[in-house]
Amino acid sequence: MALIVQKYGGTSVGSVERILAVAEKVKSWHDRGNQVVVVVSAMSGETNRLIELARQIDPDPSPREMDVLLSTGEQVTIALLAMALHRLGVDARSYTGGQVHIRTDSAHSKARIMDIDGTRVRADLEAGRVVVVAGFQGVDENGAITTLGRGGSDTTAVAMAAALKADECQIYTDVDGVYTTDPRVEPKARRLERITFEEMLEMASSGSKVLQIRSVEFAGKYNVPLRVLSSFEEGEGTLITLDEEDDVEQAKISGIAFSRDEAKLTIRGVPDHPGVAYQILGPIGEANIEVDMIVQNIGKDGTTDFTFTVHRNDLPRALEILKKTADELGAREVESDDKIVKIALVGVGMRSHAGIASTMFKALADEQINIQMISTSEIKVSVIVDEKYLELAVRTLHDAFGLDAEN
Ligand code: ASP
Ligand code: MG
Repeated sequence: MALIVQKYGGTSVGSVERILAVAEKVKSWHDRGNQVVVVVSAMSGETNRLIELARQIDPDPSPREMDVLLSTGEQVTIALLAMALHRLGVDARSYTGGQVHIRTDSAHSKARIMDIDGTRVRADLEAGRVVVVAGFQGVDENGAITTLGRGGSDTTAVAMAAALKADECQIYTDVDGVYTTDPRVEPKARRLERITFEEMLEMASSGSKVLQIRSVEFAGKYNVPLRVLSSFEEGEGTLITLDEEDDVEQAKISGIAFSRDEAKLTIRGVPDHPGVAYQILGPIGEANIEVDMIVQNIGKDGTTDFTFTVHRNDLPRALEILKKTADELGAREVESDDKIVKIALVGVGMRSHAGIASTMFKALADEQINIQMISTSEIKVSVIVDEKYLELAVRTLHDAFGLDAEN
């Protein structure tokens, strides 16, 4: 007998028929003697619909009320799923985040889970019930409803699994696992049987949208074995764990992630003295704009050039701030470009294999793709290229690193 936490995303519970199908799936795990906790998202499109309703009243609604509104989506699904389980003769109970004491900080719309009191859930499981918990929501110490950020139900599931010391956290979604890259861009992409937390984190931060990034961090921190699998097809999915496989020869590269949400800013001719990086990026950070890649050139004639990337949505604000900084510092000019994409090779195998970056650069050069920026970490090499090369670059690298599926 195992304790399993399952999470079903919006598409998997997108209609009454699908909710009934999820109930069948849950029942089959429960019938096999497992203790099952199910975390669900709102029905697909529902969260967006609620956001739109709010916008019609106020373009900038109160964060507290926004969370009260958005948390209703998940509350609908837990009740419907519990009813569907009852219809199949399975004893089940639904709970909102607050009811099972998913306590978070007070950062509305991006709250962090502080702790979970599993007493109630454990008692239900002991009594043979399936427990259905609303994803994406919690409650702060004042009792206000909070939400965990878009895609946050993944994090709820992982946090429940950690709190209950579950044997596995299964994330059911509309894809059947984690792929070497997005199959919509490279049809030869392959499903990975396993990937490490570390790699998954790099994939997610580089644009792979299979799991909410925070859920992967959480799973890594508490060592919760995480499995991504399809709600619609049978299969083993992809297991995300701590261990690097050591029995088979480690592939050099596990995957290629990319992100279209990038924009870059350049400030040229900045008087070069200690503290310029801080003077340039300080105000950007204060405006809560996340900076990803940063390149500073070697100073020449007492000035230096500085380039960094931000999320495309943040470009207008970042540009405004940077122009102000440029005036203050007496920099020569400011430029920006949002017709760029980031492509990243990810793999723990990089630690033990040399020459990954040069293979990457050669493959791109052979296709005449110009690299605008490069950054590396221990298990990742990322480049910025013109957005028109996205597909070509991803396919070229997929092939160059032997990731293509056979046949
Ligand atoms: N319903 C929320 C969203 O659409 C949370 C989730 O689906 O995980 O972002
Ligand atoms: Mg989702």
